[in-house]
Amino acid sequence: MAINMAVPKEEAPGERRVALVPEVVAKLVKQGHNVAVESDAGKGAHYLDEAYEKAGANVVDERSGLLGSAGVILKVQPPTEDEIAAMPEGSVLIGFMYPHRYPERVAAMRDKKLTVFAMELVPRITRAQAMDALSSQATVAGYKAALIAADTIDRFLPMLTTAAGTIRPANVLIFGAGVAGLQAIATAKRLGAVVTAYDVRRAAGEQVRSLGAKFLELEIDAETEGGYARELTEEEKKQEREMVEQAIVAADIVITTANIPGRRAPLIVTKEMVAKMKPGSVIVDLAAESGGNCEVTKPGETVQQNDVRVVGPLNLPSALAVHASEMYAKNLQNFLDLIIDDEGALKLDWEDEILAGSVLVHDGEIKHGPTRELVEGGAQ
Ligand code: NAD
Repeated sequence: MAINMAVPKEEAPGERRVALVPEVVAKLVKQGHNVAVESDAGKGAHYLDEAYEKAGANVVDERSGLLGSAGVILKVQPPTEDEIAAMPEGSVLIGFMYPHRYPERVAAMRDKKLTVFAMELVPRITRAQAMDALSSQATVAGYKAALIAADTIDRFLPMLTTAAGTIRPANVLIFGAGVAGLQAIATAKRLGAVVTAYDVRRAAGEQVRSLGAKFLELEIDAETEGGYARELTEEEKKQEREMVEQAIVAADIVITTANIPGRRAPLIVTKEMVAKMKPGSVIVDLAAESGGNCEVTKPGETVQQNDVRVVGPLNLPSALAVHASEMYAKNLQNFLDLIIDDEGALKLDWEDEILAGSVLVHDGEIKHGPTRELVEGGAQ
């Protein structure tokens, strides 16, 4: 059996990624599916229409026609109201959904009786690693954050011994040693910096040290059962602030990546701390999108306080659209493998914890509890 799959061009401002790259399209076509791609959908990531055609896709100019005949729609960003309106009732939609930002779109998807899987809800279990788009995109963001810091600062990162004297390596301090933080550490190390990192989860220390960086230790372990961080107590926060302050005074570059799922990002670097930093130092705040780890951060801007520049980048994965799209497309391909059976037909096994965990909307109902609460106020 063949499934009609559709890949619309992403419309969100600044979004250059595309849900499927030609390599993945070719695999799906080989499995017997029909893949329609909107003209120029991959252009922002340098995947041109000809490459999709060569991979066996049908490149389509008109979006409503593309969506109207689709069984499975693959996206990066949440669908717009117009896209939802054009999707056939009962079709399957897969992508990032950010339901807390777009509750009205969730309601529209429910009313349209779509089956919607949110990639950010895929459980962080071993079996789902190949579908873990949060991780693949955080890898991109962490790498790019280190490069932005290196590009912004007016000094070398590596130690250099030259006829014009010896240059001391830069001190890079990284907060949050999750997927993005570890990639930022690895990238700053490759650039020759001396790297220190801190995470409220003590277990992260081993990973930090294995990358050749120093781990700041505080007598706190805030890891909860799922491997995520819990919020710290007031006393813990005070101790943390003191240790943080000492470390940032010694740093040339600070990269913050700390997050607590479903909450505002924790505030780690205060205005006062920024004021004590060395002249010319740089902060890159990867949590800018979720409230910022630094008090000075303005999302999407670079601000200067005293002689410190604070960069608050938005949607970093889009800045590395080629590989971000490639990795995301492979995540989607692995997810599709889970919902398509050997005969090529859709088969939604709700007993499977990956499907049960990532479904946002199905059959006219909002399946994800916190989103249902947000959209329907807890009413069933
Ligand atoms: P995240 O983006 O939710 O947060 C980034 C990091 O910030 C986390 O390591 C968190 O502990 C840290 N943090 C929170 N508050 C902080 C504070 N006040 N100060 C310093 N650091 C703080 O994290 P993530 O990258 O999505 O990873 C979360 C966890 O999930 C990690 O344990 C990671 O190893 C794990 N994980 C597991 C899998 C899997 O098994 N499939 C896949 C990916 C991630």
